Amino acid sequence: MRKVAEGVYRVPARAANTYLVEASKGLVLVDSGLPGSENGILKAIAKLGKEPSDLKLVLLTHRHLDHIGSAAALKKQTGAKLASHPFEKPYAAGTLVISAPRAWSLYGRMVRKLTTLEYWSLKLFRIIKFQTTHVDLAADEESVLDGVGLDGSVVWTPGHTKGSVTLFLNQPSVAIVGDLLRARRGRLVEPLLMESISQTEASVKRVLDLDPEIICPGHGKPLPASKVKIEKRIVKPVVVAKKKEEEEDLEELTSGLF
Ligand SMILES: [Zn+2]
Repeated sequence: MRKVAEGVYRVPARAANTYLVEASKGLVLVDSGLPGSENGILKAIAKLGKEPSDLKLVLLTHRHLDHIGSAAALKKQTGAKLASHPFEKPYAAGTLVISAPRAWSLYGRMVRKLTTLEYWSLKLFRIIKFQTTHVDLAADEESVLDGVGLDGSVVWTPGHTKGSVTLFLNQPSVAIVGDLLRARRGRLVEPLLMESISQTEASVKRVLDLDPEIICPGHGKPLPASKVKIEKRIVKPVVVAKKKEEEEDLEELTSGLF
């Protein structure tokens, strides 16, 4: 566990970061790691001198397994309420199955091919026993943060997924962004996989407009907002890459027919 700012702690969980935030009425956890992360998170809560029951809210930034994986276990063991954007709720409930967002770069496409979330949902779900759960609260309701006495806002920041959200804290000025940005070589760059590139860019701008001092990504270390380096050139190749990929998908589909 590492202190990021006053009352904000980074707790690395299985495959992704989680963040503990001290609010006036208890603790808030942002994201939950892959299944099996709950014990490490509970240990971090104990290190802060708190009880499991002090965890009042788990905010899930988006639907991916490395962010929602331990939500069910934490809800059970702490009694915390779960919150996400309404778009992400059916994925936590298991009603909808996660599919891989599109990748914009060659590297991203390779990653997508090798470790697509479709693959995860089909294979890994069975291996690591993902527990589905009911998300109690819609993260975009103002009452969600008021209920725990947290001075901040939940900002809808789609792009990586349709229902991705960012937790923005006013004091200290911190944005916890899920997979909207990832830390790489001392910079905060765009995610490898994005459902929408234009939405990702707009969401990054929205976060920067809030003028946070520190940005906390789902993967990698928190960094000052000045370290955000989004590739402007990604806009053009993406259209080509998308078309190409769709063609490839079509080819794959039709190859079995003839
Ligand atoms: Zn993700």
